Amino acid sequence: MSVVNRLLKTALPLTPKFIVRFFAKRYVAGDSLEDAVNTVRRLMGEGCCATVDVLGEAVRNPELAAQAVAAYREVLATIIERKLDANISVKPTQMGLGIGEDLALSNLRQVVAEAARLGIFVRIDMEDATTTEATLRMYKALRQEFSNVGVVLQARLRRTLSDARNLGQEGTNVRLCKGIYLEPRAIAYEEPEIIRWAFVHALEALFSGKGYVAIATHDEWLIEQALALAEKMGVPKERFEFQMLLGVDPALRRIIVSAGHKLRVYVPFGSHWYPYSVRRLRENPNIIRAGLEAFFRRRLEA
Ligand SMILES: Cc1cc2nc3c(=O)[nH]c(=O)nc-3n(C[C@H](O)[C@H](O)[C@H](O)COP(=O)(O)OP(=O)(O)OC[C@H]3O[C@@H](n4cnc5c(N)ncnc54)[C@H](O)[C@@H]3O)c2cc1C
Repeated sequence: MSVVNRLLKTALPLTPKFIVRFFAKRYVAGDSLEDAVNTVRRLMGEGCCATVDVLGEAVRNPELAAQAVAAYREVLATIIERKLDANISVKPTQMGLGIGEDLALSNLRQVVAEAARLGIFVRIDMEDATTTEATLRMYKALRQEFSNVGVVLQARLRRTLSDARNLGQEGTNVRLCKGIYLEPRAIAYEEPEIIRWAFVHALEALFSGKGYVAIATHDEWLIEQALALAEKMGVPKERFEFQMLLGVDPALRRIIVSAGHKLRVYVPFGSHWYPYSVRRLRENPNIIRAGLEAFFRRRLEA
């Protein structure tokens, strides 16, 4: 990473919120559910489907966790009413995991039960490594009762190959991603190339199992590896989909769709946009750099 990008990354937490918002708006559909509906409609027009995320995390107050459950109920009803090709993604700490696992499980159960009633799938997002065990436990508890629920594995974590083997054998619907949360070396790989190969190995374990796989990456090398692996292992198109984040590489999105693959876009919306946006910008400071360069170019030309 260049020195400028490293400086931009370091400066992010000190940057005023309105500036962060300016650069991060590409990653978020907007503040309201209607913004999310419009974005999903636009994506459907491009041949994509969506997973809708009500922004929010690290909730410390049971009242706020209950509000998140209510917000998801509204999203579920809207998906049906507006005939959206979409499911939902939910964060455990938004459901109250930071307060207690029982509370989070009970809140998640309400969301999953309502989604099951409406025939909609629920993805439980994976957060930092302090939550991995509890998240997998809650997933397993819910999977005993419902079939419309799946979880996420992060290739960055050293434990993931073993989790992929187990969940694959159980027929779990798994989203596989690199993992956005930087973890200590004792439990996670740090080198990008090792994380890439760990992704390929975990994907192979999932393909060897019985479940459905959501391949969540914008890394073209990995997408190629995934397609080659699927062909080599005789995994049919119906057993996997690609997933990408809103605001990241729409050109690659079009390439995947026009090759006839299912492509789901993660569509976050809501007023709690800040932590999600900072994570996205830290992942790619080039976005800020390009924005600043364009701004100063315009100034010089004026
Ligand atoms: C649908 C979806 C759901 C996810 N859910 C989770 C989750 O539950 N838990 C979790 O820990 N992580 C999650 N992630 C994030 C994931 O772990 C990675 O951090 C993220 O996808 C970047 O990794 P990459 O595989 O795209 O590879 P990278 O090597 O990071 O990126 C490949 C290329 O994509 C582009 N790119 C990547 N990120 C950005 C960005 N922010 N802005 C602009 N361009 C970018 C760049 O061109 C980059 O060169 C999810 C990702 C997706 C796509």
